[in-house]
Amino acid sequence: MIPETIKNLLSREHSVQVNKVTSLSGGDINRAAKLSTNRGDLFLKWNHNAPADMFEKEEEGLDLLRQAGGNIKVPDTIAHQNPEGEMPGFLLMEFIHSGTGSSDDAFRFGAEMAGIHNQSNSHFGLDHNNYIGRLPQSNKQHKSWNTFFVEERIKPQVKTAIDAGKLPESILKNCERFYFELESIFPGNKPSLLHGDLWGGNYFFDTNGIGVLIDPAVYYGHPEMDLAFTKMFGGFPAEFYRGYESVNTLEPGFNGRIQIYNLYPLLVHVNLFGGGYASRARRFLENY
Ligand code: ADP
Repeated sequence: MIPETIKNLLSREHSVQVNKVTSLSGGDINRAAKLSTNRGDLFLKWNHNAPADMFEKEEEGLDLLRQAGGNIKVPDTIAHQNPEGEMPGFLLMEFIHSGTGSSDDAFRFGAEMAGIHNQSNSHFGLDHNNYIGRLPQSNKQHKSWNTFFVEERIKPQVKTAIDAGKLPESILKNCERFYFELESIFPGNKPSLLHGDLWGGNYFFDTNGIGVLIDPAVYYGHPEMDLAFTKMFGGFPAEFYRGYESVNTLEPGFNGRIQIYNLYPLLVHVNLFGGGYASRARRFLENY
């Protein structure tokens, strides 16, 4: 069931009459439902405890990916609401029916993802901050990827984890050595438009086999960051990577850098879920 406050607001301000609600599972952070409405099937996600502008930033991220063009699908958004009193925050968008996706579809999706990465910008970062899951993500702009990765990605998450007692303060010494070694690790690259949270739960194929992107944490970063993210939980189909490499060449040694990029999502998981992720992050950093 969706909250009456949302149903009433949709009717009053967006002329959306909800006829049927089907709860959906799968989201880690928010509640989600498929709404059958007078405007067709719509997808609603909502959260009573969402940070104030979380859904607004998600909508902006979806817009940036959609504007990148190409033959990739990004759901059209219809309305967003910041949480206010009894009213939960929510995001309403087009519902996209999912299909199976053949290996040819995965190849085309990989090629399209490379096309998104070819959208560039003068700086790493973005002109506004956003969220990864429900955690704030700082996108302060930097000329150097190395500086951006350390200052805006790793340091804030390490600080949050230490403040919450999930990592020991002694890890800071390891971090300093890790940052020092990074200076010779990353291959040079122009800032690329990234999805930013590209794990297997944040894409699917529609009924025509077109790749669909959802739930982004967009910024301009090193393209290897998105690719490493795809390998965080088991990886994407092999054809996805072949498709990607049919458009963009990977720098030698990428496999050896995956764990380094994925320290960021690992730390995000430490801060969202704790537990085993914290010991994994600690073991990784203690190698330095
Ligand atoms: P959360 O932010 O809570 O992780 P997601 O945006 O990942 O939520 O959505 C949860 C699930 O709902 C996804 O795994 C996906 O299967 C489905 N989903 C998300 N957006 C759409 C959409 N526009 N149309 C159809 N299904 C969607």
